[in-house]
Amino acid sequence: METWQKILQASITRPAQITPRFGIDPVPLDAVTAQYPMRITPYYQSLIREVNDPIWRQAVPDALELRDSVCFTDPLDEENQSPVPNLVHRYPDRVLFLVCAECAMYCRFCTRKRKVGGESMVVNGDTIAQGLDYIRTHPEIRDVILSGGDPLLLADEKLDGILTALRAIPHVEIIRIGSRVPVVLPQRVTIGLIRVLRKHHPLYLNTHFNHPDEITATAAKACARLADAGIPLGNQTVLLRGVNDDPAVMKRLMQKLLAIRVRPYYLYQADMVQGTDHFRTSVAEGLEIVRALRGHTSGLGVPAYVIDAPGGGGKIPLLPDYLQQLGDDEVLLKNYRGELYSYRNVPPAAAAEAERQVANSDGK
Ligand SMILES: *Cc1c(COP(=O)(O)O)cnc(C)c1O
Ligand code: SF4
Repeated sequence: METWQKILQASITRPAQITPRFGIDPVPLDAVTAQYPMRITPYYQSLIREVNDPIWRQAVPDALELRDSVCFTDPLDEENQSPVPNLVHRYPDRVLFLVCAECAMYCRFCTRKRKVGGESMVVNGDTIAQGLDYIRTHPEIRDVILSGGDPLLLADEKLDGILTALRAIPHVEIIRIGSRVPVVLPQRVTIGLIRVLRKHHPLYLNTHFNHPDEITATAAKACARLADAGIPLGNQTVLLRGVNDDPAVMKRLMQKLLAIRVRPYYLYQADMVQGTDHFRTSVAEGLEIVRALRGHTSGLGVPAYVIDAPGGGGKIPLLPDYLQQLGDDEVLLKNYRGELYSYRNVPPAAAAEAERQVANSDGK
């Protein structure tokens, strides 16, 4: 067994293994874990400083998970957009392919809380073969995103097999991996894994840091190995109440990500996932965070703030009100300091062309 597998095996899965140390009665939380699994790696546990700190909130079950009456089990309508099990085809040219049902940690705010780590999510040789077949027979798919669960929990050979099969499909141009392993089990990023990944370029990896305290020397080393293998690294952060709903925290997170060669990609407004209502913030707070980043720190560190539309509409970007007025003649803009600027507009190309024709005919 590899070291990372031993670490994973030493993860705690019951509230009684952690909350008594912090003076919290674990018994009421058993009802939560009966519905939504718990798993915290020893590494991620070591980042907890106190009850309800940002690390704790992401990892330790909360009784509020069972009191959510607002949200939905599958808010993004993924099941209805799955032509075959575990493959979501929402956009014209790319698919989300769920190749592992397990995660190194079960994040309390997870969008696929309804199924990851539970019995309802079945990933096996057959579902993987069906997904590969679907991709093979749909030439419009040029981008495949491996997700789960966490694809990097697959054994090296299994992952290699899937990547090799995808690479054999001529129309698959790029492959992306979505993984929280660099954050919750960085020891998984072994030399052996790197050897597998680097065979399958162009390969991108998006990871999922939510708080600056998650960027440790160990996590940095995992990211350095991936980046050194030529894998462009991106980050998807979920805006979470009590975790990162603070412009200063978010700025520090983005800056620290850039310092470990991870480029902020998306900042997600929390999905309306049943059991996660207590994590949601208002959209106004999200916009305020974006406003506090843009212009105030490196543009490289400003992710796109999006809402993944309930009902499967896809990601919709949101921007603060930089564009104050879009007129035919004048565009009125607000900069990052709130100062107004005017830009002289030009007519749309079609209108310009029509005008030119009129001018030409006048000249004859
Ligand atoms: C997020 C997502 C993608 C990828 O979207 P990008 O904007 O290209 O990163 C693809 N399919 C599904 C179902 C998604 O949720
Ligand atoms: S790692 Fe991702 S898929 Fe797994 S529980 Fe966390 S958010 Fe959900």
